[in-house]
Amino acid sequence: MVRVRFAPSPTGPLHIGGVRTALFNYLFARHNGGTMVLRIEDTDSKRFVPGAEDYIIEALRWLGIEIDEGIGSDNQPYGPYRQSERRDIYREYVQQLIEQGAAYYAFDTVEELEQARQEMPNFSYDASTRSKMRNSLSLPSEEVTRLLESGEEYVVRFKVDPDREVEVDDLIRGKVVISSTQLDDKVLYKSADDLPTYHLANIVDDHLMQITHVIRGEEWLPSAPLHVLLYEAFGWKDSMPQFAHLSLLLKPQGSGKLSKRDGDKLGFPVFPLEWRNPEDGSISMGYREQGYLPEAVSNFLALLGWNPGTDQELFADPQEPISSELISAFSLDRCSKSGARFDFEKAKWFNHQYIQLIPVERLITYIRPSLTEHGVNPTDEHLRDVLLTIRDKAQLLPDLLPEVLYFFVAPTEYDAKGVKKHWKAETPSYLQQMITLLEELPCEASLDTIEQALYDKINGDELPMGKVMNGIRMALVGAPRGARIHEIIYLLGIPESIRRMQHAIDEIKL
Ligand code: GLU
Repeated sequence: MVRVRFAPSPTGPLHIGGVRTALFNYLFARHNGGTMVLRIEDTDSKRFVPGAEDYIIEALRWLGIEIDEGIGSDNQPYGPYRQSERRDIYREYVQQLIEQGAAYYAFDTVEELEQARQEMPNFSYDASTRSKMRNSLSLPSEEVTRLLESGEEYVVRFKVDPDREVEVDDLIRGKVVISSTQLDDKVLYKSADDLPTYHLANIVDDHLMQITHVIRGEEWLPSAPLHVLLYEAFGWKDSMPQFAHLSLLLKPQGSGKLSKRDGDKLGFPVFPLEWRNPEDGSISMGYREQGYLPEAVSNFLALLGWNPGTDQELFADPQEPISSELISAFSLDRCSKSGARFDFEKAKWFNHQYIQLIPVERLITYIRPSLTEHGVNPTDEHLRDVLLTIRDKAQLLPDLLPEVLYFFVAPTEYDAKGVKKHWKAETPSYLQQMITLLEELPCEASLDTIEQALYDKINGDELPMGKVMNGIRMALVGAPRGARIHEIIYLLGIPESIRRMQHAIDEIKL
């Protein structure tokens, strides 16, 4: 039975790379009929940011990444799922390692550690240096007992034996072997806040929660050998989860990892939702608020570091935010080791596609409030027809509003540049001829009838097509943009189209 977990630390808004990790866990869980757990790794009390946990839950919900167990779900068989609420559990396991001799107490103060760093070049707290430090391996046991009893602050460190080959089997990277000599005696627990560090809590919880696969970002790969040693020390090696470290998300240009600064510089969000920093009130933009559809974001992210082995890019599902086709196509062995370049234009392309693909009712729900703000309240049916006609013009959801609005609000002003370019001395006479033509058509003329009549007239009378159309467009839209002329006339209705043309003839002065 596959069990995966997404285990973010609530140190700020979830970065888009973190969202990708959550998505890959989810796709893997769903593909295998497994369980997706959400666990909050909040053991670093100094980096805790209020609001971050709610943000994570909301972001996952927006994207359609469903949580089956843990935080954000009522199903909590292995709870609590917030690590700060699991102190009693960790204390017990820390004690076990100490009793086994796999871990030890260290009393070095911040100053002493600083001094060691200055005295020894490339200082690392490990087998080569620990005898020179103040810990339960170097101090007499009465002294250790005295320090512990007097309430002296301490940490517990993992005792890493040198010269051992540590093997990490990774489903994406294959076998990685490193020497334990390169590892230091990592801190597992701090008495100051009675909390374990990430490494201990992460291993204990993955074991207790029976996690079968650890799918996470490449930045955690360096921790994996230590994690293997911890599993071994606890005697859990046989039930150790399988690792899969996802490739890095790279900057759109140049080398290195995608950062918030890249987004700020190039004008794209690196967070799923807008985030207000509680410390300084600064706002970071989010995909949702910029007008992306969640399915476009998840489809885009799915292809960053994974490919289906075919040319298929769109995995759309009218029913589900994350398509069943994507779920069945997903597999870890098609995840790549090399970094995935973050191509922001591609995100826009996906959004443009999804604006065409989703049920138009969703676009209605989205745009209705802005129309109301403009004092416009069309029927759903009318709005639907307009949206179906113009939705291919929008890349982001906010692009819809100007494309929709002119259907319901007649222009009162005319775009100056457009007038200069498209309104000529002869334009009013062309428009007059078109008015006459429209007056002869039945009010309920079909789209095809209107189109045919316009073209027959222009071609038959050998009028200049471009000039006539541009003139009509200026009159109907007020600017040189918008849907095709016969579509606009059809949706506005013939009487309103005539009114707008007449108004332009009266108003636009050269
Ligand atoms: N708490 C870690 C994070 O913030 C979890 C890493 C892991 O998945 O092991 O990403």
